[in-house]
This record gives sequence, C-alpha cells and structure tokens, in this order.
Amino acid sequence: MTTELYHLIGGKKLSGTSGRFADAFEPMTGTLRSKVPLASVEEVAAAVENAKIAQRSWAVQNPQKRARVMMRFLDLVQRDYDDLARLLALEHGKTIIDAKGDIQRGLEVIEFSCGIPHLQKGEYTDSAGPGIDIYSMRQPLGVVAGITPFNFPAMIPMWKFGPAIACGNAFILKPSERTPSVPLRLAELMLEAGLPEGILNVVHGDKVAVDAILDHRDVKAIGFVGSTPIAEYIYTRGTAAGKRVQCFGGAKNHALVMPDADLDQATDALIGAGFGAAGERCMAISVVVPVGRTTADALMARLIPRVEALKIGPSTDPAADFGPLVTREHLEKVKSYVDLGVTEGADLRVDGRGFKMQGYENGYYMGGCLFDNVTPEMRIYKEEIFGPVLSVVRADNYEDALSLPNDHEYGNGVAIFTRDGGAARDFAARVDVGMVGVNVPIPVPLAYYTFGGWKRSGFGDLNQHGPDAVRFYTKTKTVTSRWPTGIKDGASFVIPTMG
Ligand code: NAD
Repeated sequence: MTTELYHLIGGKKLSGTSGRFADAFEPMTGTLRSKVPLASVEEVAAAVENAKIAQRSWAVQNPQKRARVMMRFLDLVQRDYDDLARLLALEHGKTIIDAKGDIQRGLEVIEFSCGIPHLQKGEYTDSAGPGIDIYSMRQPLGVVAGITPFNFPAMIPMWKFGPAIACGNAFILKPSERTPSVPLRLAELMLEAGLPEGILNVVHGDKVAVDAILDHRDVKAIGFVGSTPIAEYIYTRGTAAGKRVQCFGGAKNHALVMPDADLDQATDALIGAGFGAAGERCMAISVVVPVGRTTADALMARLIPRVEALKIGPSTDPAADFGPLVTREHLEKVKSYVDLGVTEGADLRVDGRGFKMQGYENGYYMGGCLFDNVTPEMRIYKEEIFGPVLSVVRADNYEDALSLPNDHEYGNGVAIFTRDGGAARDFAARVDVGMVGVNVPIPVPLAYYTFGGWKRSGFGDLNQHGPDAVRFYTKTKTVTSRWPTGIKDGASFVIPTMG
C-alpha cells in the first residue's frame, strides 16, 4: 500500500503543499512504498521560523535537561529497535541485521551527546591580570540544518541532529527523498522523549528545498553528507552566504595487501567491506591493491570463489550477505560501470550483472563483480561506483601501492593489511587519506573521535561527531571581566595588556 508522507514542522505532521512528490520504493520487491512531499521555499521558511522561535528557550535550558532528552530517546529507540530496523531495510534495501548496525552507529553519537554538560563547558582563567578574569563560553548558533544521503538513513541524521540539538540549537533535517521514513520516525521519537516542538523539524525535498535552506538568512550552519558534486555545490553556495558549512562527499577507498599479510584474514575483510550493504557505503572498500605478483595471484585465487559464492537475497532474509540496490536507476548505473570496465580493458573475473532473484523479479538485485588488472587511467578506477563491484589494481611494490590512494582525488578511508608494524606505521603517517585502518577494512572512528575524509571527500575544516561536532555547532564567546575600583581610574587610550 502506498502512503503519503508528511513534513514534521513545529512538532506537527504537515501534508506537503507544493504539489510535487518523489517516489520512495521498496528495493527488494520494486514496489512503490510512499509518496514523499517535496517542500517549497515557503515550507522551508515556515520550518525555519518555527525553529527560530523554539530555539530561544531551548538554548537557555540547562545542559543536563537537554542531555536527559537524549537519554530518554536512547530508551525509546531501544523499545522500537526491531520496527525501525525493518522499516529501514525495506526502504533502503540493506539487510535487517545491517540496518540494526546503521541505527547502532547513530545511537553511539547520541550517547556521546549525553555528555553535553561536560563537552560544552568553557574555559576560565582566574586573575589573568590585576582583578581581571577571562572566561569563554560555547553558545549555540541558532537554527542549523542537516542534509543527508540515502545510504545511512538512521546513522547520519543522528550524527547531525544529536550534537547540534544537545548544544542548544534547533535543527532542520532534510533527509534523502529515497529513504525518508526512518529519519521521520527518529524525529517523532525525539518529540516523545520530551524535545520541545520546533527543535527538530523534518522537511523532505529536493534541490528546491536545499536551495531554500542555503539561502535562508536564519540558517546559520549546514552539515551535508552525500555525493561530491552536491557536497561541493552546497559548500560553495553556503559559505558564500556566510554560513558555517561542512560537507562530506564520495569515496574510493583502497585496501593495500602486503606480501606478509594474513591472506585469509584479508580476504574475509575485503569481502565484507567490499560487498556489505551492496557496496553502498562511503567507507566500502572498492579498490584492492595487492603488492607484488605472488600476493596478487594468491589473493585473486581466494577472492574469486568468495565473490562467486556471495549470497544475495531480499532484505528480510537473515542469511543474505547483501540485498538489492536502492533504486532501479542506481542499479542500471552500477551495471553500466561494469560494462564500462569491460570496454576499458579490465578483466572481469566475476560477473554479477545477470543475477536474478527468484520470486523477486522486480527487485533491484545484482550479484558481486570482481575486476582484475584495473589501471589508474580507467574511469572505473577514478569514479565512485557505489555498488557491489571490487577492482583489483596490481602494484609492483609498496611505494607504487602507496601512491595510488595518495594520488586519487578522493581521500575518505583506506586500509593496509600487513603483519609488519613498521610498514603499518609508515603507511598511517604518509597516506593522504582521512581515516586509516590497519588490518581493519572499514575504519569508521567511534563516536568520541571524529569522522571525515580528505581531499574531495570532505569540504570544510571540522569533522562530524566527536569533539569537532561541539565546535561546529557552537560559537565561542570570550569574556574579559574586571570588578575593581580601577574603573574609576579614568580612560586609558593604550591597548590593554596583562603584563
Ligand atoms: P546525493 O548527493 O545524491 O544526495 C545527498 C543529499 O543531497 C540528499 O538529501 C539529496 O536530496 C540532496 N540532493 C541531491 N541532489 C541535489 C541537488 N542537485 N541540489 C541540492 N541537493 C541535492 O547522495 P546519495 O546518493 O543520497 O548518497 C550517496 C553518496 O553519499 C555517495 O557518494 C557516498 O559516498 C556519499 N556518502 C558520503 C559519506 C561521508 O561521510 N563521506 C557518508 C555516506 C554517504
């Protein structure tokens, strides 16, 4: 049954008024699930107005009270975990067990945000000068916004709204129009947890809504996650409008496999990291770089049967390694990249293009694909494919291997598989990528560290979650204070010093 979704503005469920809708499908069956209203400029403005008024009293709530809302939210998500995971899997296509991980990695940032009374503390210097004290405070920005991608419908919205709201801001969430239902449910749970109306608003939309957010003078900061062209657009336009903006974009994550690596362990890691969630993760491994011919041949001998044996199934199948892709359009795009790789001269050793899921013929499925002898000039190497396609680029030696991620335009995640601590240390120091794994294929930092890619994987100077999130969502005010008799001493025309 197709349902019509709604915006959540000022704590109220509001039907869309623009007359424009996007379709959200169920990838495992290919059926239409919901009509998603696409907000107009006026609807975005209404959300911002509401948020602006609500934020004033939220900002002056003491930080423990703000944290307690987060604590209650954690309990409510636990209560509804299974329903949320199922909803997420049905709308996105990932398996239910993987959807649970999506929720969990978001909750960890909410847990971190419960520490806001401590995290938001300022600094104090007693007697910085005669009778003079200096202190700083971290004040919220006001109304801030998050624009999020389809692939982590629970985790990334929580990464954004958790710290922002804990810091005392009001938040406008513009989730992906392809996976809008879980973000909406999470916002409703925040209200149930006691968040005042208007502090977390969900506005669905496309470029029209995003541009309205970018242009609204009362939106003070924007956190974006999605593809690099859109990240760059939002960063450029948002900063030109004087906003604080952080944008996280696409990726091409390499895994180097050194001759001394445990190849069985590396194979397990590469299969999971390359094909989990059908490769639709910004931290998925998409390029494997075995060092030396012996390593490459031995690794290929292990990878080929494992890719052939991957179990693809509907999102509800607990035994499936991965499910369908998010939309038919994306499925066709990924398959066309595989066609391109063949045309470019790479060796397609496992071809999953023809895979059909029995009983689910209209779903968006494809099997795993494995290329050997991919070279840096090929488009399948340069561009993000975002599907179950693993490319092997052979390198003669470590330096050649290291130059691959270093020269690539993306710099999100990278990994090295080795038993040599010296090699791993050298790699971690010299690789030009933001997040590094040593025998860890998907090095997503935990909530109390920060997450962010380099080069064209990240725009802006602060990462998401961890201490950077508190810096991003607050502005520092520094007060120099004197309570002396000295004020009576008369005016001074010399710059004050503490000497
Ligand atoms: P996307 O860029 O298509 O969409 C992201 C958001 O931007 C959505 O909310 C969408 O509605 C909006 N949007 C789309 N087109 C727009 C336009 N022309 N103008 C304004 N807004 C627009 O990305 P996606 O397909 O939803 O997500 C996949 C991408 O996200 C991949 O490139 C992946 O690597 C990246 N990603 C990056 C990270 C990270 O932290 N670096 C994490 C997850 C996903």
